[in-house]
Amino acid sequence: MSTSPNAQSGIGQPDRILIFDTTLRDGEQSPGATLNVDEKLTIARQLARLGVDVIEAGFPFASPGDFEAVSKIAAEVGSEDGPIICGLARATQQDIKAAADALKPAAKPRIHTFIAASDIHLEYKLKKTRAEVLEIVPEMVSYAKSFVNDVEFSPEDAGRSDPEFLYEMLERAIAAGATTVNIPDTVGYLTPSEFGALIKGIKENVPNIDQAIISVHGHNDLGMAVANFLEAVKNGARQLECTINGIGERAGNAALEELVMALYVRRQYFNPFLGRPAESEAPLTHIDTRQLYKTSRLVSNLTGMLVQPNKAIVGANAFAHESGIHQDGVLKHKRTYEIMDAQSIGLTDNQIVLGKHSGRNAFRTRLRELGYELSEQELNRAFLRFKDVADKKKEITDWDLEAIANDETQQVPELFKLEHVQVSCGDHSRPTATVTVRTPAGEELTDAAIGTGPVDAVYKAINRVVSIPNQLIEFSVQSVTAGIDAMGEVTIRLKYGDRIFSGHGANTDIIVASAQAYLNALNRLSASLQKGEALHPQHSDVQPVS
Ligand SMILES: [Zn+2]
Repeated sequence: MSTSPNAQSGIGQPDRILIFDTTLRDGEQSPGATLNVDEKLTIARQLARLGVDVIEAGFPFASPGDFEAVSKIAAEVGSEDGPIICGLARATQQDIKAAADALKPAAKPRIHTFIAASDIHLEYKLKKTRAEVLEIVPEMVSYAKSFVNDVEFSPEDAGRSDPEFLYEMLERAIAAGATTVNIPDTVGYLTPSEFGALIKGIKENVPNIDQAIISVHGHNDLGMAVANFLEAVKNGARQLECTINGIGERAGNAALEELVMALYVRRQYFNPFLGRPAESEAPLTHIDTRQLYKTSRLVSNLTGMLVQPNKAIVGANAFAHESGIHQDGVLKHKRTYEIMDAQSIGLTDNQIVLGKHSGRNAFRTRLRELGYELSEQELNRAFLRFKDVADKKKEITDWDLEAIANDETQQVPELFKLEHVQVSCGDHSRPTATVTVRTPAGEELTDAAIGTGPVDAVYKAINRVVSIPNQLIEFSVQSVTAGIDAMGEVTIRLKYGDRIFSGHGANTDIIVASAQAYLNALNRLSASLQKGEALHPQHSDVQPVS
């Protein structure tokens, strides 16, 4: 594989679309999608397996936690044959220096620097004139270039900027060494034809544009982000900035899985725009589409941001045929109502794979096949969980295994541990719960409470033991597989001050899963309190909206 970012990204021969994933930067800016460093690393490893070209790992100057995450991802995922690892920086020396320092361990580091371009941002946010900004751009791109070869520049809010000013900014950025210029529709305002025209204008009016890759970034406020990007591709954009499940600020970013599958299923439509023969079957991206479903599940589990059932590509119903006419058609010939195979996104037939008598080796082997590399300690815990589930549920499927493995790889320090939970409820009794929790000091504390329902009673009993004031803001249960003996997965989000923490639990008993999910979130919260993050978020005023 080629090592220079330019050769790899194909400047001068742009016949492939680069996928720039910003799940860990823009996606993590979704309200409540806070991830710890280990969780970010887990997602970054999966993004590398998925085959993304660039991982935007974070905004190193924003906080020590962000810096550490970018630096660890650079060290562990940013190898020579891995993806480019990118760090975000405002166009200031301190931001760029922090990004350069965090990216040091990466074999292929990229600094992504941005500055506002629209008059409304210049006047009210940046408080700078156009002339001042035109001076800053080349100065800061050159400064970034003094650390790394691969520099990306974004004029923030490009979608609402004066095109003539934009052309000049881009020309100066490229002259100073930017190898990618990214055009953000920061507020999700443009329509597809407008966005296409913007890219076309840039291609025609920026004299040195052939020395850089044109990238696009956009938000889904009007539900047009993916359509905008596809129109941009037709007009010369060759890098797409997107997130798994489309998570991100407000209505989110363009969804990676939708872009990739649109470019895959309709490759013959897009081929001519990339100068390929229309009938070419070669994929337009380097994404291993069979990893899409698993990546979606992992991001959903770790962020606590659930995927709506009717979501394109990765929603639970995306490949389900309910109407009799459709089912009949699909049975006679798949293509009557299906434009793509469930297998193409890695949605396997959910076969029964293991049972009560399966051994540790079979368990480990199947997890490996599913892409989970567990440490010895995680494997031990997961195997105990598996035996426990197999006792209650005869047939264990891939999805059950994934639920168990996801649970065990969450890597939150288990400060509080659920030892025991018991509820009594019914239509003529007050729901009552008794819980026993082991505290960080190793003490076993038992308490009981009554509530409006069994889960409420369990949470009140846990609160009595843990005593960290918090507000439960979201609670949801989903079944992993069909059937009355299915495992239930509980996802919750709770609020402490301004911060939101998510928790996840899976069990055949949804009351136990609920208790585990709650303690999982409380463990995240207390780990964050220990580090002092929750109380003193640093540089919290510098969240970018690029
Ligand atoms: Zn954004």
